[in-house]
Amino acid sequence: MPEGDTIYRLARRLQDSVEGQQILSSDLRVPRFATVDLSGRRVSEVRAAGKHLFMAMGLPVVDEGPLAPAEVILHSTLAMEGTWRLHPTGARFSAGPAHQIRAILRFRDVTAVGYRLARLEVLRPTGLTQVTQRLGPDLLGADWDAGLAVTNLLRQPQRSIGDALLDQGNLAGIGNVYKSELCFRARVWPGTSVAEVTDLRGLVDDARQLLLENRDTVKRVTTGDQRRPLWVYRRGGRPCYRCGHTIRVETQGDAGRERWTWWCPRCQPDGSPA
Ligand SMILES: [Zn+2]
Repeated sequence: MPEGDTIYRLARRLQDSVEGQQILSSDLRVPRFATVDLSGRRVSEVRAAGKHLFMAMGLPVVDEGPLAPAEVILHSTLAMEGTWRLHPTGARFSAGPAHQIRAILRFRDVTAVGYRLARLEVLRPTGLTQVTQRLGPDLLGADWDAGLAVTNLLRQPQRSIGDALLDQGNLAGIGNVYKSELCFRARVWPGTSVAEVTDLRGLVDDARQLLLENRDTVKRVTTGDQRRPLWVYRRGGRPCYRCGHTIRVETQGDAGRERWTWWCPRCQPDGSPA
């Protein structure tokens, strides 16, 4: 599942392969941008912010005069199953059926194909600002600000910590895996209100630390042990590695946006009678 560390690694792969390269042809398969032609543009920068991926593309090489289109940014998010894959130009695309393809960017040597993207849009720089302004501090960003993340979380003190951690407007980069794992590591039941979490700063610092530790590796580890990498995520019904109690799983969250949450009732007691 793509979380901040996944997007970070994806951005790095794209940086290595397409930054500085010219787009030979493009095919955006979302209705709003289906007629947009990016060919001739050169990718000036690829970067990740939280769970968002931005590809900035400079002016076409042939200058069309004062009305030439300025820089545009291709913005994508991956949600649960999306990804960008790099295929050698001319080779068959192999990461999913054609109807799941949302974007094709053909360069001389490689072709970048966006599969199952949750969101794909072409932005002007002002549109980019609107997107990034809605995001809280990026856990893997150079300008990470833990104090601001805590302040943001406390704006809705009655909200559950599990939900609040997923809100990219509070801090950017946490998905469902880290949400469950961070709550376990903090020994906090995910349904606890933000106001009741005693060491919110410690939890936020731990989030930063975990994403930093995992940003360069494919296998996500939160336990420090490669053989049993995660404490609770997708371990419902199985014994807790710390105390042996059965891990529980339930949906949690705002109506219509519920997400699965895993926790150990003994390590993370919810305060209700057993
Ligand atoms: Zn336990």
